[in-house]
Amino acid sequence: LDTTQHPHFVTASHLLKTVYGYDSFRGQQADIINDVLNGQDCFVLMPTGGGKSLCYQIPALVRPGTAIVVSPLIALMQDQVSALKANGVNADYYNSSLDFQAAEQVLIRLHNGELDMLYVSPERLLNQSFLQQLQTLPISLFAIDEAHCISQWGHDFRPEYHQMGSLRQWFAQVPFIALTATADFATRQDILDKLHLNEPKVHISSFDRPNIQYTVLEKNQPAQQLEKFLVKHPNQSGVIYALSRKRVEEVAEQLKAKGFKAKAYHAGLPAEIRQIVHQQFIRDEIDIVVATVAFGMGIDKPNVRFVVHYDLPKNIEGYYQETGRAGRDGLPSEALLLFGMQDVSTAKYFIEQISNEQQKMLENFKLSSMINFAEALTCRRNVLLNYFGEPSHKACGNCDVCLNPPQLFDGKIAAQKVLSCVYRLNQGFGLKHVIEVLRGADTDRIRQLNHQTLSTYGIGKEYSAHEWQSIVRQLIHLGFLQQDIQDYQKLKFTALSGDLLKGKIELQLAFAKKELKTSSLSSNS
Ligand code: ADP
Ligand code: ZN
Repeated sequence: LDTTQHPHFVTASHLLKTVYGYDSFRGQQADIINDVLNGQDCFVLMPTGGGKSLCYQIPALVRPGTAIVVSPLIALMQDQVSALKANGVNADYYNSSLDFQAAEQVLIRLHNGELDMLYVSPERLLNQSFLQQLQTLPISLFAIDEAHCISQWGHDFRPEYHQMGSLRQWFAQVPFIALTATADFATRQDILDKLHLNEPKVHISSFDRPNIQYTVLEKNQPAQQLEKFLVKHPNQSGVIYALSRKRVEEVAEQLKAKGFKAKAYHAGLPAEIRQIVHQQFIRDEIDIVVATVAFGMGIDKPNVRFVVHYDLPKNIEGYYQETGRAGRDGLPSEALLLFGMQDVSTAKYFIEQISNEQQKMLENFKLSSMINFAEALTCRRNVLLNYFGEPSHKACGNCDVCLNPPQLFDGKIAAQKVLSCVYRLNQGFGLKHVIEVLRGADTDRIRQLNHQTLSTYGIGKEYSAHEWQSIVRQLIHLGFLQQDIQDYQKLKFTALSGDLLKGKIELQLAFAKKELKTSSLSSNS
């Protein structure tokens, strides 16, 4: 911290030790806490387990008044409040799980100024009479947990969060801190807009998990591919994710038959069985859990050495969260994805059934990002981090692409052609049109728009449309271009585009892979 350190920051460090028993802040915690103490609005993007709670709990203890913490899940509220109470903090919650009397008691404590923190569900908070009461009380801060719930672009939109956009104006003097673990670029912008945060300080923690090695295999004989992988991990803990309960059961049976200590876990099993499997896994009595995504919430097992995706996850958020269960202890771990065409078709089929057009578009975008990850010719970690708004073009050395690189070529000129073309098109068109202009295609659309007169028309005849597609995807993965999900996936510049256009950056690109059947499926712009 520099000279802008808040005078009460010393108190914050002291509380860290006395209330929580920790010696030092982690990652960006100290900076965030300092900003909130200074009365500034903050947006915090931090992976699960990163330590978001302290970022608002400590300022809540330092600043006078009661902190209002908005949280969507009653169970989580209860956990947080019991943990705080156990540490001697005056905290409580106010939600629909309380009966009339208990709710009254909480309100009395609130009015008497006895609470440092009050966890509230959005429904209760937005109740007019409650809001009016709050305005008469000293409020230290508002913390909006799971802030992505406010965005329709996020994966967990909650209508009751939608109303929270008006909160900011009601409490002009109170700092707001919005926190989430999952937000791609579009969701992030949307959260900032919707909450009307006031010149927020944006704190984005790294999503990198350097000890996890990412590998994608083309799925052809999944049972054999899985077995071959598992024999390289004898007696190690791991999770295998499959999409359906039926598949989970099948794979678990196959593994047991082969002598692996494996069990199935999915929401269709009785609660007692699930509990037993969970415990056996935690206690290392079994090595492998074959599971649907139902398995994972609340698993805090440090020595998970591998996570396998037997089927394609629906989106990168899910993939990241699931693979993130490996290697919590920081030791080398592996994430293997079996990627097959059949899975892509299945996923497409389910998306087609969605009736809400906007939702359908969003799911399609998320699926194509997932497919692009699986088909990536650039470092997979870059693809992941770029997706979470952390662009990097330095290869990681710990993924299958880095360890077994495709043949590379000097891609600077090609990249500049793409960027110039995007520029000439005023960042108003998608991948397909940009490539048609580059290749000088003679289509009705181009003639209607008079794009054959652009200076970049036909400057890219040296590559096929398929090769250009591969180049543009790589530029997206490397953070030199982005597809604007809120604007028909039009190609837009990023903060890095300018330097590449001006020739300040050298760029190696990979030759396109042989044209696979997937290409037509995964490019829908
Ligand atoms: P998140 O909400 O980001 O998922 P939590 O706030 O629940 O993360 O924190 C995850 C874990 O890390 C908790 O067990 C928490 O007590 C612990 N933790 C948080 N900050 C620190 C710190 N500065 N030092 C040590 N442990 C910490
Ligand atoms: Zn890599």
